[in-house]
Amino acid sequence: MSAFSALRPPEPATPHPPSFPAPDPVVDADLCRQCGACWTICPARAIDESARPLEFDYDRCIRCCCCIEVCPYGALHTVDPLPGRMIRKLIARFS
Ligand code: SF4
Ligand code: SF4
Repeated sequence: MSAFSALRPPEPATPHPPSFPAPDPVVDADLCRQCGACWTICPARAIDESARPLEFDYDRCIRCCCCIEVCPYGALHTVDPLPGRMIRKLIARFS
């Protein structure tokens, strides 16, 4: 069990609405040391710490990037799925 586990927020009563099409957080398995900082801070309980490597539930994730901010090993970053890129380009073009 991680030292962070006792600090983990409770399960949200209702899942946060997803923030599609914002970029998705992903983990670099070679850098992750399973320290627990990310899944402890996640307000949406969207990180499955029992998976190796960590897995994200993108239906729950609100794309707040808190996990990326707190990772002490630089193991998290975002990827921008194609639909999100296309929608943002269209918004930028017509706004
Ligand atoms: S904070 Fe970083 S190193 Fe720690 S478990 Fe999460 S991804 Fe892995
Ligand atoms: S981006 Fe936010 S909601 Fe999504 S997994 Fe990271 S901390 Fe959780």
